[in-house]
Amino acid sequence: MPEPTYIVLIKQVPDMDEVEFDYEEGRVDRSSAPLEPNPFDLNALEEAVKYKEELGGEVLAISMGPKQAESTLKDAIARGADEGILLHGREFAGSDTWATSLALAHAIETAGSCDIIFAGEKTVDGDTGQVGPEVAEYLDIPHVAFVSDVTKRGEKEIQVESETWGATYLKSMNLPGLITVTKDVNEPRLPSFKDKQRARKAEITTWGIDDISIDPDNLGVTGSPTRVANMEVPPPEERESLILREDPGNSVNQLLEKLDLGREN
Ligand SMILES: Cc1cc2nc3c(=O)[nH]c(=O)nc-3n(C[C@H](O)[C@H](O)[C@H](O)COP(=O)(O)OP(=O)(O)OC[C@H]3O[C@@H](n4cnc5c(N)ncnc54)[C@H](O)[C@@H]3O)c2cc1C
Repeated sequence: MPEPTYIVLIKQVPDMDEVEFDYEEGRVDRSSAPLEPNPFDLNALEEAVKYKEELGGEVLAISMGPKQAESTLKDAIARGADEGILLHGREFAGSDTWATSLALAHAIETAGSCDIIFAGEKTVDGDTGQVGPEVAEYLDIPHVAFVSDVTKRGEKEIQVESETWGATYLKSMNLPGLITVTKDVNEPRLPSFKDKQRARKAEITTWGIDDISIDPDNLGVTGSPTRVANMEVPPPEERESLILREDPGNSVNQLLEKLDLGREN
């Protein structure tokens, strides 16, 4: 029986504390800040590595992005992935979630059979949370989103807890399938110095449009139905503050009045 294969989708994102916005183009200026793996994707990777440790198999990390995204894939190898594939080329640039998901689905099909696909619940830059479920739809496999715990790792079935609409659902899914994970699912491991050294020497495979047999008309701006009409950063919410320094009894009464909860007598 072939060893199971786990695929992790990892996006390289800018440090959101430092990033600037291109208001004219309506997008994040990714060149304005240091780049790092999307934090939720490290949770996805950790879950794939746990699966591998329990049931054996291989973890393949896939990213679509610029050449610099190789460093994110090397980081994934340092944290337990066996291989990294970068989807790269000018045809991919300007893709919205629809085109991104299509490209990732083509890459997964090209990689061969896969038992579970792991993705983050969302990215910290695009923040749509669409790519994971869209990839599953393109591949015509089931998915569970917002997984906060994996309660059973099986070869043919996975059982998870999923946090949706303020409730926790216990779900089981036949494999192959896709899950998107939240930050609660695990604590991503830190790579050791030795792991980092090994990963630095690892070869990252680069695939272009011909490698994944995709029509370039379905990629980039041409293949993207989304149009960003406007982009605004909401002004910080202004809040009134009050420090009550009188004796506790008076302070409580003042506070209740302010909260409009004043006692009747
Ligand atoms: C009109 C338009 C033009 C755009 N042009 C560009 C552009 O030129 N350059 C650019 O960088 N972005 C561009 N974007 C943003 C780009 O579409 C999104 O960043 C991308 O589709 C992923 O969406 P998201 O960040 O919301 O991911 P989410 O749906 O929030 O991500 C969920 C999960 O999917 C996986 N995932 C998402 N994206 C990737 C990826 N690229 N590789 C591997 N896994 C992934 C990760 O596991 C992630 O945690 C554009 C968007 C629009 C609407």
